[in-house]
Amino acid sequence: MQVKTHADELQNYLTDASNMPGGFADKLFIPETSEEIAGILKEVNEQKIPVTISGARTGTVGGAIPFGGFVISLEKLNKIKEINKDGLFAVVESGVILNDFQKAVEAENLFYPPDPTEWSCQIGGTVATNASGARSFKYGATREFVEELEIVLANGEILNLQRGEVFSENGFLELETVGGAKIRAKLPTYRQPETRKNTSGYFSGDKIDAIDLFIGSEGTLGIITKVKLKLLPKPESFFSGIIFFENETDLLNFVREARDVSFETRQKVVSNFKFQISNSIDASLIEYFDEKALKFISEKFPEVPETAKGAIFFEQETNAETEDSLLEQWNSLLEKNNADLEQSWFTTTEQDREKMRAFRHALPVSVNERIVRYKQKKVGTDMAVPDDKFASFLKFYKEKLDASGLDYVIFGHIGDNHLHANLLPKTDEEAVKAKHLYGRFIAQSIMLGGTISAEHGIGKHKSKYLYVQYGERFLNEMAEIKRAFDPPGILGRGNMFDAKFLNQ
Ligand SMILES: Cc1cc2nc3c(=O)[nH]c(=O)nc-3n(C[C@H](O)[C@H](O)[C@H](O)COP(=O)(O)OP(=O)(O)OC[C@H]3O[C@@H](n4cnc5c(N)ncnc54)[C@H](O)[C@@H]3O)c2cc1C
Repeated sequence: MQVKTHADELQNYLTDASNMPGGFADKLFIPETSEEIAGILKEVNEQKIPVTISGARTGTVGGAIPFGGFVISLEKLNKIKEINKDGLFAVVESGVILNDFQKAVEAENLFYPPDPTEWSCQIGGTVATNASGARSFKYGATREFVEELEIVLANGEILNLQRGEVFSENGFLELETVGGAKIRAKLPTYRQPETRKNTSGYFSGDKIDAIDLFIGSEGTLGIITKVKLKLLPKPESFFSGIIFFENETDLLNFVREARDVSFETRQKVVSNFKFQISNSIDASLIEYFDEKALKFISEKFPEVPETAKGAIFFEQETNAETEDSLLEQWNSLLEKNNADLEQSWFTTTEQDREKMRAFRHALPVSVNERIVRYKQKKVGTDMAVPDDKFASFLKFYKEKLDASGLDYVIFGHIGDNHLHANLLPKTDEEAVKAKHLYGRFIAQSIMLGGTISAEHGIGKHKSKYLYVQYGERFLNEMAEIKRAFDPPGILGRGNMFDAKFLNQ
């Protein structure tokens, strides 16, 4: 195990994709086994030294940024232990990079759908944040694929959890560690918002599977060291399109229809739809780019038509039997909604599909580059609202942003009513305005029954907004569950809620 204390060696571990400033730490551990991690935690737990868990630091909310204490990096726990073709599962150490994992899985003719746009993240990081992304429209978030977890708790005890084994009863979870220690934890009592995605706070519900509490717990309840993931057979091929529209109403009508038909198709398939190749429209992703996002990205992709008022990226799995029929069905839906078919891009080849994914990925990357260029902080929304509130929420976004005079782009997971409005201030004065506007979007999403974070999590960046969403009582309930697993409150301090809640 490497241990580093020199400022230069720690530098890279003091920040993440949020660019939140001010991170500092005394020591960095780079362990190679769960046992080494258990050893570190046993020691620091007694001394109550804060520990921040560091994945690949692609998180956008400052969750991996330490403000004092020690950092434990998972980068050397990077072995793919097993890919089982017959059982359709894989077992990996948590520091395996998502991109490496996806390549290894595909080489076995298998498929791991979670695809949070940024492929350099670690599997453990995606579990800790319950990452989702474009394909969640059909397949759900990372949670759907997690079958087993090995977790090292704050006192060094190891917990093994298997989906389907332990459920909460009467609001409590009772768990036993490998070493025989018993933990009884009271679950938070809030209801999850009625959105398609949610990563605001700990998972809750009437009867929850214990494993679900740790998925999305943002490094506050334990260190995930090993993960068993469900896999699917690799689809034979994909039909993908980036479609340009000259009229926003046509675009939104197209999305509504494509989404409704996809849901209808899935309902018709009685068995597990995720394994089925359908003969009717059943999109695996529906992504949105507004006019400003297209203008913004046209520097890198000059082939984007100048007159486009917005674009949709969609994808569906196909095979030799379904391909022709599906192409025809998508085509008639697009024609009906006045898509600019001449200038749109379609493909069934792997190579062009990669280009389309690169197009989608280039947008958040360009946003980050621009923010760095103007030495500003990104102000990006991650809110989602219930189905029937989406159109009014998008209108609210656009009206307020246009009136503000700020540069902005809106893009993202429109199939899940979940868009990212990225505000792009150029000066400190504009940054203040952007932050103010962000607060208004938070208030509006909560008022509409939505969530302040649909996929990026809360981290340190959004903890004060989680307070707005849930209020004092529920934050105290979250702190109570953290205390059950981490009594001195050393893990991921400051993530989700202020450390002051732990002292009550
Ligand atoms: C350009 C870009 C686009 C993105 N698009 C998406 C998107 O579409 N959808 C989406 O969901 N996310 C997206 N993200 C966010 C990001 O990729 C995810 O949050 C990612 O899952 C974090 O993984 P990581 O390994 O980088 O974790 P880190 O950033 O290192 O850590 C994230 C949090 O998890 C904790 N953590 C990390 N590893 C562990 C572990 N083994 N055990 C316990 N806790 C741990 C950390 O302490 C921290 O709180 C995007 C990021 C970028 C930069």
